[in-house]
Amino acid sequence: MTMYDPTVDQRVDKALANDFLRLATRRATDRLRNNRVKAAEELGDWQKWREAGETIRTHVVANLDFYLKQLITQIEKQGGHVHLAKTPAEAVTFVKNIVREHKAKNVIKSKSMISEEIHLNHALEDEGSTVIETDLGEYIIQIAGEPPSHIIVPAMHKTRQQVADLFEPIAGHPLTSDTPTLTRFVRNKMRESFLQGEIGITGCNFAVADTGSIVMVTNEGNGRMVSTLPRVQITLMGMERLVPSFRELDVMLNLLARSATGQKFSSYTTILTPPKQASDPDGPEEFHLVILDHNRSEILGDKTFRPALNCIRCGACFNVCPVYRQIGGHAYGSVYAGPIGAVITPLLENDWYKWGHLPFFSSLCGACSEACPVRLPLHDLLVKLRARKVVGGHTPKIEHQIFKTYRFFFTHEKTLRKALRLGSKLQWPLVRNGRISVGIPPLSNWTNSRTLPKVSPKSFMQMWSELNRN
Ligand code: SF4
Repeated sequence: MTMYDPTVDQRVDKALANDFLRLATRRATDRLRNNRVKAAEELGDWQKWREAGETIRTHVVANLDFYLKQLITQIEKQGGHVHLAKTPAEAVTFVKNIVREHKAKNVIKSKSMISEEIHLNHALEDEGSTVIETDLGEYIIQIAGEPPSHIIVPAMHKTRQQVADLFEPIAGHPLTSDTPTLTRFVRNKMRESFLQGEIGITGCNFAVADTGSIVMVTNEGNGRMVSTLPRVQITLMGMERLVPSFRELDVMLNLLARSATGQKFSSYTTILTPPKQASDPDGPEEFHLVILDHNRSEILGDKTFRPALNCIRCGACFNVCPVYRQIGGHAYGSVYAGPIGAVITPLLENDWYKWGHLPFFSSLCGACSEACPVRLPLHDLLVKLRARKVVGGHTPKIEHQIFKTYRFFFTHEKTLRKALRLGSKLQWPLVRNGRISVGIPPLSNWTNSRTLPKVSPKSFMQMWSELNRN
């Protein structure tokens, strides 16, 4: 079996050929990045906040069993139900069973990356339920039948005209592409959906262990509607998304909002302690929390990659990554794109054939690690993943051969010199305007978009000794 999925190159070529996508991605990420820098400066001593964030996340992840038990006890004490899903398939089954039990035909959702991770929508639609995403960006990509291209701005790659074209068949009449028209259409559509929703499915930015509370951060208020109007609420959560108490939540919310969108605070920060108690005016009568493992336990047990669980999914690393900014999210092929997607996907999916390319989607410039509000050493983890791929024997034979040859020449100085002299004489068919710009495969992958300096007839050492002689 080949060690490399050939569709990776096709996706990258497609993204690189799409000038609009590249421009839109660069513009949007520039805006988010500049907003983050301003918001961080405003807070003062941002590095101290980052250190605090890292300390909290490292502590929680190191004591995950304790905080998970505490959270589960609290939720069950309040009358909620907790389901521990080892795999995405198990998580889907838990949700399907709840939907079936309530014979629910209308399911409304607020943004949840876990639901993307477990591919929930299609599974529910196959059961005959109508699933409506109520976050504007998620709604757009749901209609388009695409995965998100950014964890915070899922429809970043779409123009307003493309959005209007997607909405028109649903509206049943022509729509202009101005923002007020499009948002008015979605607002009316969502109102209907909120009122019809029998089950609400939400994500969870953080769960507070000592109170059993669920925290959701949105900018449209849809999370609040999804978690208060339907009679039944299901919340999906990755098993690491905990904070011990409200004290730590304060730090994490400051870091999350500023890093994600550059806001001091997101427009709606919803904190719920469901289900509805007798004294509550509203809220779900029945509450289910589905906690997903999906190889997170394996990551937790691996000291090298454990820090990857510290991520708070703010997307700041996407916005500074020179690779993401050129190709956008879909070229990665995974639910999580950007630097954190390149780290977490091979670990979650444990499939080197399908996802082994991702740690190489990085220039290793370190901008992602600098931007991360919880100081995740992303570039370091990417190098370690590359090493693990090689040590595990998951690289193509040709790559082994190339590195063997490289090692041979660089440990045999005389042979290297001879080879370079020969190379400088034989390279002429590949040289144009003084640079190597024509290549044969696999060199052509490089020369198709860049040039290389031509091999000099004299080595540096030769030139150096000539200089000393003169
Ligand atoms: S790795 Fe850091 S910057 Fe990237 S999404 Fe996670 S918390 Fe944000």
